[in-house]
Amino acid sequence: MVNIMNYEIKYDTRDNIASLLSENNPEKVELIRKMAHDVLLENCGSGVYYRGLIEFSNRCVSDCYYCGIRRSNADVNRFDLTMDEIVDSALWCAKNGYGSIVLQSGENSSRDFIDFVCRAVETIKKRSVSEELPNGLGVTLCIGEQSEADYAKLFAAGAHRYLLRIETSNRELFKTIHPEAQSFDNRVECLRRLKRTGFQVGTGVMYGLPGQTCQMLADDILFFKDMDIDMLGMGPYIRHSSTPLKKNKNQFIIERDDLLRVSLLMIAVCRLVLKDINIAATTALQTIDPTGREKGLSFGANVVMPQLTPVDYRKSYLLYDNKPCQEDTKEECKNCLSARVGSVGREVHYNEWGDSPHFKRKGESKN
Ligand code: SAM
Repeated sequence: MVNIMNYEIKYDTRDNIASLLSENNPEKVELIRKMAHDVLLENCGSGVYYRGLIEFSNRCVSDCYYCGIRRSNADVNRFDLTMDEIVDSALWCAKNGYGSIVLQSGENSSRDFIDFVCRAVETIKKRSVSEELPNGLGVTLCIGEQSEADYAKLFAAGAHRYLLRIETSNRELFKTIHPEAQSFDNRVECLRRLKRTGFQVGTGVMYGLPGQTCQMLADDILFFKDMDIDMLGMGPYIRHSSTPLKKNKNQFIIERDDLLRVSLLMIAVCRLVLKDINIAATTALQTIDPTGREKGLSFGANVVMPQLTPVDYRKSYLLYDNKPCQEDTKEECKNCLSARVGSVGREVHYNEWGDSPHFKRKGESKN
């Protein structure tokens, strides 16, 4: 509990967290932002870390009702990047000082797929070693639900961070956005598997889902705390015109006009509650506001994911409508982002992995 002037910013209970997330007085929102920024500086420093995002396959066995690349979306041209395309994109990152990459794809658990990803990680790790990056690029994976044995193979191949969003920690809401075959319990179990394997574990939710309330988002934050997660990649839910969720009968409780404010408050309150984890200012934020990512940084985020997917494939990886950065080359993206980061008084830390301070501290306290 902390006092700023006469306004008390309390985040010790579910109700207090929900009330911060519902705040719409601009002065109070600004106070929350400032406090989150101070907590960021104290626990993580002011650096911003890049993870070059390579979306290497849009084939997906899942059928999430909100996602543009869901299995049943017949409009999508399915693609797989070749090994050379993936490795070239990764090596471009290494050469340009991005200390880390994220390899993301649709859901696939086939033997061939896991072996392919392992080979890609091994090759990238080996070929990205340099004076600046003595241990090669840091590799984060975002390839969905897998068995513990496969997580172990991917970790052994050299990936050390993994992002698997829970999407919402509310079981009932989860059921309204996924088919029955996709279970909430399995997703939670996968997060546990990732932890046991040794990964730095990231999760996250979408905010502004039909039927979702600020109380549910408060529960999400408590879920992150309970799961002791190391990183967060969250973002607003944005409609995709060829998905079932666009026709959902549930009303939006968080009004579309409030979505930016709630998105930023989610980042800030996560920073207040979770303190030393890494939090991404995601691309989806930029879809709802042209300077959404910068705003995300000023509300407590410290990670940005520049787009590295080869331009020709990006239109086939549209998770939602109006996804930004569809045409920008890697170079344009690099320049644009460093200007965006600079515009909020922050600096990109090049050639660093930028691991989660929370994960490091857990390791130190065990020794
Ligand atoms: N298949 C992997 C998984 O499930 O973790 C990774 C790929 S999946 C496309 C990456 C993320 O995209 C999901 O976790 C989801 O939160 C986000 N996403 C999908 N559709 C979205 C939408 N309409 N609006 C906002 N985010 C969306």
